[in-house]
Amino acid sequence: MAGVLIFADQKEGKFRKVIFEMLGEGRKLADHLGEELQAVLMGQNVEEYATVLGEAGADKVFVIDDPLLANYTTDGFANALVKLISTENPSIVLFPNNAVGKDLAPAVAQKLNAGQASDVIAIEYDNGLRFKRPIYAGKAFAHVSFTSNRTMIVTIRPKAFEAATPQPGKQPAIVRYASELDASSLRQIVKDVVRKASGRVELTEADIVVSGGRGMKSAENFKILEELADVLGAAVGASRAAVDEGWREPQYQVGQTGKVVSPTLYIACGISGAIQHLAGMSSSKYIVAINKDPEAEIFKVADYGIVADLFEVVPVLTEEFKKA
Ligand code: FAD
Repeated sequence: MAGVLIFADQKEGKFRKVIFEMLGEGRKLADHLGEELQAVLMGQNVEEYATVLGEAGADKVFVIDDPLLANYTTDGFANALVKLISTENPSIVLFPNNAVGKDLAPAVAQKLNAGQASDVIAIEYDNGLRFKRPIYAGKAFAHVSFTSNRTMIVTIRPKAFEAATPQPGKQPAIVRYASELDASSLRQIVKDVVRKASGRVELTEADIVVSGGRGMKSAENFKILEELADVLGAAVGASRAAVDEGWREPQYQVGQTGKVVSPTLYIACGISGAIQHLAGMSSSKYIVAINKDPEAEIFKVADYGIVADLFEVVPVLTEEFKKA
């Protein structure tokens, strides 16, 4: 076995921050195992993006360029990746624990008959590799080790690891791979993929998240959170109650069945703090809660609590941050 392989998910050459975090921890893993740090780029006309991965520490970049990979499909990406992994036999493959990684990693693990550790937040290097992951909605941690000698498949939680130290000018070795995909056996996107434009930072990558719950009372009232978020350069999230009411779209839901966020600052407005919501945000560095109920569970995890009507407090915060 040879290599620590990073699945370098990208959209039109833009890499999520988590890819650089995977390269940072990947470097440690590679040094620990005495192996090469590798990355794989998949898509159409993607080779030019390899330099970015080299400058973030990758020794080698595998490029699988194919029009059939222009848009993500589970079977296309999984089949091409399994072929690469079966040939190169890396010790470990890291995927981001985002929408693509959560879909792709288990498909790859199943095809390779390999084990998987999901949503990993730390790697322990003493006494064999162990992978720490939250379980029971973040109430406990499991320390997972692999017992087979097959490739280890691991998904990495965004913002849990330090990003790679940049190495300007470092050129990775490039190895081109043919995908050998058979178009007739693949599901394909027959219409265009339309991406909704949003000027806002992505929820899982944001340093500050402002979230609203049922206490927001209507979709229109989220405007005051948008205004606060604009001043702070933050993303706007929501509890499931707010999503179920139709006030925010499902991709903005934070929690057990939504996204997991670990920003530096999480501001919860009108959110009670149900365990399923905490599962998605309790690893935030600082938590501020605004709730008019002093008994609300959210105050148990909050670093700063404001017992007040959010409709009075949020506009004041926005005005004060504008002055700062
Ligand atoms: P509520 O619990 O109704 O709380 C509203 C809060 O707003 C109250 O504390 C109230 O005091 C406060 N409030 C009201 N008006 C004001 C005001 N004017 N000013 C200040 N405060 C005010 N939930 C998630 O969020 N994410 C998930 O991923 C998720 N997954 C789930 C999965 C399962 C299997 C299940 C069973 C549930 C899941 N839930 C999830 C739902 C979860 O249990 C709660 O129902 C939900 O989080 C409650 O949302 P909320 O806090 O916005 O609403």
